[in-house]
Amino acid sequence: MKQYVIIGNSAAGISAAEAIRKNDVAAKILIFSDEDYPAYCRCLISYYLAGDVKEEKILYRPEDFYRENNIELFLNKKVARIDPKKSRITLEDKTQVSYDTLLIATGASPKLPETKGIKKRGVFGLRTIKDAKEISGLLPITKAACVLGGGLVGLKAAYALKKRNVGVKVVIKSRQVLSQMLDSEAAGFVQKRLEENGIEFILGEDVAEIIGNGDIKAIKLGSGKAFETSLVVVGKGVTPNMDPIKETEIKFNEGIITNNLLQANIANIYAAGDCAESFDLTLGGLCVNALWPVAVEQGRVAGANIAGGNLNYAGSLGMNSIEFFGLPAVSLGIYKVKDGEAGFEELKLHDTKANLYKKIILKDNFAVGAILVGDIKNSGVLLRLIRERIEVSSFKDKLLRENFGYPDIMALVKDKEHLYV
Ligand SMILES: Cc1cc2nc3c(=O)[nH]c(=O)nc-3n(C[C@H](O)[C@H](O)[C@H](O)COP(=O)(O)OP(=O)(O)OC[C@H]3O[C@@H](n4cnc5c(N)ncnc54)[C@H](O)[C@@H]3O)c2cc1C
Repeated sequence: MKQYVIIGNSAAGISAAEAIRKNDVAAKILIFSDEDYPAYCRCLISYYLAGDVKEEKILYRPEDFYRENNIELFLNKKVARIDPKKSRITLEDKTQVSYDTLLIATGASPKLPETKGIKKRGVFGLRTIKDAKEISGLLPITKAACVLGGGLVGLKAAYALKKRNVGVKVVIKSRQVLSQMLDSEAAGFVQKRLEENGIEFILGEDVAEIIGNGDIKAIKLGSGKAFETSLVVVGKGVTPNMDPIKETEIKFNEGIITNNLLQANIANIYAAGDCAESFDLTLGGLCVNALWPVAVEQGRVAGANIAGGNLNYAGSLGMNSIEFFGLPAVSLGIYKVKDGEAGFEELKLHDTKANLYKKIILKDNFAVGAILVGDIKNSGVLLRLIRERIEVSSFKDKLLRENFGYPDIMALVKDKEHLYV
């Protein structure tokens, strides 16, 4: 009987365990996690913090999932080292566990800047349910909070704090919110909606110091200005969790380098999710696309291959969606053409009054990216154009129209079976 070890009990790890079990009913599957919670929907923790979602609703699988699938789950067990030559992992408590095949699905952790005071009590990342609970515990005594960073997690944190009646200032080094997801025009709509709902923004500024003896008292900006705050949430992106592989022969850049089977450079080691670099459809090369659905799909493919399959990973696409105070926004693939890059064409509709923005980026008459704000109902059909590389010249003039949809491209769609997924 084979023994499969999975490090990480989240989107990628769970999806892989399910795929392994589907293909190998007898195998031993062991999952190790350094968290003390069964798998939960990480994307929902800001809504849990906001009070929009109850704790019992964020579990990713029912409580009996592990027993039902004969999976041994080890919580609060940090994997310290991997020894690929001996096909063995070592936990922090020095326990050693052997594997036939290993999946590394360690995800990522918040990037903390080297700002003076960053280690003070009251500074948090927002990555785990533990973070959300600790922040939540402080809110009854928090009047003013500060969020560092205007990415997806930073804005979700700001939204949650505001929903809990805490004053929020968001400090962003760049000149716009969501600079890794939206262009500046689309970002303007999102920022305006958040401002209308009481969230303040300080753009183009970095934090010089988090001030306070013991507890936090204030934030000092690079410009010298300061303001009072007693809680800081850092949302400045994530770094893949590489600790157990750093001293090994497993190859990594930002994340673990994988091939089309999601296998690392060692035959019995696979990687999936936020810790893995895999093929990106629009970039045409490897990158980390730190997204929940990407982690789920990679887990599924890696799991099937671990159990003896030969599934090809089709590749991921940077895509994201958010909704704040009733304003939805989606970005797919390439969302911004770099200055001076030739060969791209942008189709655009900007209607400030209607809170509507659409941008579709084409290259050689193929859609390679899009942004939708306000009306996002065509996300699926645009994603289909990008993924399936459907040539758009015959219906280009219709792409921005309100009534553009699947009927316009039906004859060209290759995968008709999964049309609306
Ligand atoms: C607040 C928030 C909002 C988000 N919103 C969205 C969204 O709207 N859409 C979207 O697509 N994505 C979103 N994401 C990102 C999404 O949650 C991640 O892409 C996804 O969780 C990645 O899954 P994963 O399985 O690769 O890793 P993770 O979910 O990070 O899980 C990895 C697990 O491995 C464990 N681990 C790490 N190292 C070790 C070790 N050495 N030993 C044992 N265990 C270890 C970790 O503790 C963790 O439990 C959001 C993330 C956050 C934090």
